[in-house]
Amino acid sequence: MTPSTQRLSPSETRILICDELSSIAMETFKENGFSPEVCTGMSEDELVAAAPGVHAMVVRSATKVTRRVIEAAGELRIVGRAGVGIDNVDRQAATENGVIVMNTPLGNTVTTAELAISLMCSLSRHIPKADRGTRSGSWKKKGLMGTELTGKTLGVIGLGRIGQVAAKRALGLEMNVIAHDPYLSSRGGDSPISAVDLVELDELLSQADFVTLHVPLLDSTRNLISEEKLALMKPSARLINAARGGLVDEAALAVALEEGRLAGAALDVMAEEPPAPDHPLVGRDDVILTPHLGASSHEAQENVARQVAEQISTFFIEGVAKNAVNAPAVPAETLREIAPYVLLAEKLGAFLRQRCDGAVKKLEITVSGEAKGSAEYLSLATLVGLLRSGEMGANYVNANLLATERNIRVLNAVDEEAGAYQSLIKVRASTQGGEDSHLVTGTIFGRSPRFVRIDDLHLDLDPSGDLLMTRHHDRPGVMGQLGTMIGESGLNISRLELGTAKSQEDDIALAFFSLDDGPSDALVGSIRALDPIEEVLTIKL
Ligand code: NAD
Repeated sequence: MTPSTQRLSPSETRILICDELSSIAMETFKENGFSPEVCTGMSEDELVAAAPGVHAMVVRSATKVTRRVIEAAGELRIVGRAGVGIDNVDRQAATENGVIVMNTPLGNTVTTAELAISLMCSLSRHIPKADRGTRSGSWKKKGLMGTELTGKTLGVIGLGRIGQVAAKRALGLEMNVIAHDPYLSSRGGDSPISAVDLVELDELLSQADFVTLHVPLLDSTRNLISEEKLALMKPSARLINAARGGLVDEAALAVALEEGRLAGAALDVMAEEPPAPDHPLVGRDDVILTPHLGASSHEAQENVARQVAEQISTFFIEGVAKNAVNAPAVPAETLREIAPYVLLAEKLGAFLRQRCDGAVKKLEITVSGEAKGSAEYLSLATLVGLLRSGEMGANYVNANLLATERNIRVLNAVDEEAGAYQSLIKVRASTQGGEDSHLVTGTIFGRSPRFVRIDDLHLDLDPSGDLLMTRHHDRPGVMGQLGTMIGESGLNISRLELGTAKSQEDDIALAFFSLDDGPSDALVGSIRALDPIEEVLTIKL
């Protein structure tokens, strides 16, 4: 079931804070008019029981937002993760159910980079080992000979947000910094930091005295530092991982350290957390292990708490999903500007859903004129309108996924020119094999949507409310007869719009009666039976 898309006021919005968060989150929510409930430490069963009626859940890493939880939360619109990794949220289930998942990617950046630098400093001077020795009564320097950082080479793998901060800090320590980031290289080879050269991974590993990892865990990065890659590193080199467990082959790392092919390693993250007591790295003096401390600073916790509360508030107040990992983020200003076109696009999609006889398999959307800059979002809005019906409706999170599941091909195009209009959205929907295919074109007059063409017929239709559409032979008396029948059924016609063909020979016309209520089946049946009538449809827009 997808959540309703109706706007909620802050007092109607139920927000559940599921994990321990800095009090700044609650303050920020309150400043925005929201009153979240705090329910930390819930089991999955407890969360499933608490989920109905909840509109937003705020988590750190402890609470697991599973498929069961998401499916139990029929009104859930958003899961906000105070932090970066969203491994504890079933993103697929969220997307299928139209639930936005957002994180706060910026709040941890400095703190995590500083941890990587701290680990590098600790490794270079054996600080944890020296501390352990001193506490156990030893006052010996043996085995604690350090190495200076100045003039040494740091290899940064992943020059994203955290990698860049780590690189800048290392430059401040007068280190040489090189980096490997295939996505930056493939975008033209320019490093975002002029003093940092981008190199291939093997070159980085063979040159660096310290290597620090700042990449996400993906299929392509799992065991990135494999036995083969460890073999490229200098025996004096040291490895730091404050990114994600699973990036380093830990068994191969233990063997490399044992065989003296590497001088040390510091891991804040491990494949299995916490590691088993007999893990081969746990007992080693040349290894520093910390319990996933990357984001553990007061500043980072305050940053992510404030950010997640601001982002969720903005979503409910302005409809903008910032840092959503499964929905397009359109700035509030743009959204306000294009709002009439978004509504128009949804109505075009909704019209075609009701107009086509059978499931739509191809949707061709052309945006022309001023609105073309937002073509991608307007295409999504059309898809939302096409697929949104009843409980299994689509929203801006799941529409693309639903289209893929239902084998709907979506073809987008833009056109500079919109003829006499400022902007036009033209949509053609076709069913399997093109058996039924319809075109509808809309524009905006003032800030109101208008349909200006349906198939070959031109008109000026206000697409709203209950409409009765007829396609009929344009003969004298037809409109009068239709008007009488509708009137006799007790329905009021508030507007009538006619669509006529441009060519004189074609006598086919369209009529749209705007009614104060939906027509009965009996009325539709008796209109369908009239001789000049080719088609009659009830449409709700
Ligand atoms: P980011 O997306 O800004 O940067 C990641 C960079 O990695 C990108 O520039 C990307 O191009 C690059 N990359 C992707 N695949 C690569 C590959 N195969 N080789 C080299 N580079 C590659 O992310 P970020 O905010 O800098 O975070 C980096 C990592 O740190 C993430 O995995 C995040 O989960 C982790 N992190 C850990 C902690 C912690 O508690 N230890 C805290 C925050 C973030």
